Amino acid sequence: MTTATVVGSGPNGMAAALTLAGAGVRVTVVEAADRLGGGVRTSELTLPGLLHDECAAFHPLGPSSPYLRSVELEGAGLRWAWAPHELAHPLAAGGGAVLQRSVAATAAGLGDDGRRWAQVFGPLVERFGAISREVMGPVLHVPSHPLALARFGLRSAAPATLLARAWRGPAAAALFGGVAAHAMRPLDSVFSSAIGVMLTTAAHADGWPVAVGGSEAILRASLRRAEELGVRLETGRCVTSIDELGTDLVLLDTRPAAAARILGRRLPARVRRAFERYVPAPGVFKVDLAVEGGVPWRHEQSRRAGTVHVGGDLSEVAYAEREVVAGRMPARPFVLVGQQHLADPTRSKGDVHPVYAYAHVPHGYDGDATDSIVSRIEEFAPGFKDRILATASRSVSQGFEKNANLDGGDVIGGAGDLRQLVFRPRVAADPYATGVPGAFLCSASTPPGAGAHGMCGYLAARSALRSLA
Ligand SMILES: Cc1cc2nc3c(=O)[nH]c(=O)nc-3n(C[C@H](O)[C@H](O)[C@H](O)COP(=O)(O)OP(=O)(O)OC[C@H]3O[C@@H](n4cnc5c(N)ncnc54)[C@H](O)[C@@H]3O)c2cc1C
Repeated sequence: MTTATVVGSGPNGMAAALTLAGAGVRVTVVEAADRLGGGVRTSELTLPGLLHDECAAFHPLGPSSPYLRSVELEGAGLRWAWAPHELAHPLAAGGGAVLQRSVAATAAGLGDDGRRWAQVFGPLVERFGAISREVMGPVLHVPSHPLALARFGLRSAAPATLLARAWRGPAAAALFGGVAAHAMRPLDSVFSSAIGVMLTTAAHADGWPVAVGGSEAILRASLRRAEELGVRLETGRCVTSIDELGTDLVLLDTRPAAAARILGRRLPARVRRAFERYVPAPGVFKVDLAVEGGVPWRHEQSRRAGTVHVGGDLSEVAYAEREVVAGRMPARPFVLVGQQHLADPTRSKGDVHPVYAYAHVPHGYDGDATDSIVSRIEEFAPGFKDRILATASRSVSQGFEKNANLDGGDVIGGAGDLRQLVFRPRVAADPYATGVPGAFLCSASTPPGAGAHGMCGYLAARSALRSLA
């Protein structure tokens, strides 16, 4: 019987493990931390009874992920839930924009810009099934749906600031700019629209759901499947060399540089160079808060949105993103606020709610961004500070101590610049292969990239299975 070790139990490690085990491979997962799950852990970080997602919170690509569908995690207890609105972007003076599931309802809220919003996103939403199948894997491939992909590619290639010129008023431009900021790229660079177009289209098609009970519910459902398939699990062991493993296959849910260390001298020199040159993304600084009565947003509709982007108008968002990419901490950073309790009230205790927030910061930032995050929210929600009962901050270095993949605060597995968007983690026909027979990279540093959709692990495992044939 073929044997495999999966190093790391993040969503991609678990996806690789279940895919291999489902094909009859005897799998052991080895996790450095004393808890499984990597980016899908959920903990009582502030007060007893309040459930905070430690990392991944919203799952726009969850319902459509071919991997999650293949293992039927919903049959193993995973349930998605949606807030009344997917996303809001408040502006100064109390206005703002709201992204709702319905393109028409969103457009109606955007005044004169609504028609153009519907023209840009309506056709993409209609073809979302085909588009998501095309982009949930390596960028370079023979497309099965060339027309849908071409339409998506046309929108994605533009700098976000250029695409945003489609809208005259500040609200629609800021709404799109905030979503594009998830790429952590200068918003005037080519392809900086790609993530924004994909996540906006996904928001209209499937929403930005949370997992009931916290993102860790994805892990719990995976563990049920793992038990059925006889997957062995080991925690508290950091793998430092492939020589300690002794299995036919090794799948590494790690950064490319960590993979290079683990594979040691067996790694071909050209692959080592590529792995060591792989460029990280800027970081995030995370703050979780226990908030009595929720966040008192001045923009009424932000009170019903699962995600709120706090960044002001498009030019402010673009400035903050340019600064963090250049390695400078902006005084007023772009902040993402998560109000998962609106979709999943089981996470709250009475009228005290877990509020999730992080700011984009420079890679390796060693300061404390807690005050600037709280002050940024207060700008758009006067009285917010008075409602905070408890705070738990996680600096960039503390994140790294918990999970080596968060090196320098990078939560997206490597910069999303043009080269790494197309060739991730290196230029190769099989991006999961390492050049070491039997060893594959399966983390978010491989296609299709960041997220708890498990597609990197699933595709890496399929590549490993093909190598056995
Ligand atoms: C603050 C934050 C917010 C986020 N928000 C979202 C979101 O809303 N939606 C979304 O989809 N995604 C989000 N993400 C990104 C998402 O969490 C990651 O893309 C995803 O977890 C990547 O999965 P992975 O399996 O590749 O790696 P990880 O989840 O990072 O897991 C890697 C695992 O491998 C282990 N490991 C590493 N090296 C070794 C070793 N040598 N030996 C043994 N074990 C090892 C680590 O301890 C870790 O458990 C967020 C991330 C963060 C940090």
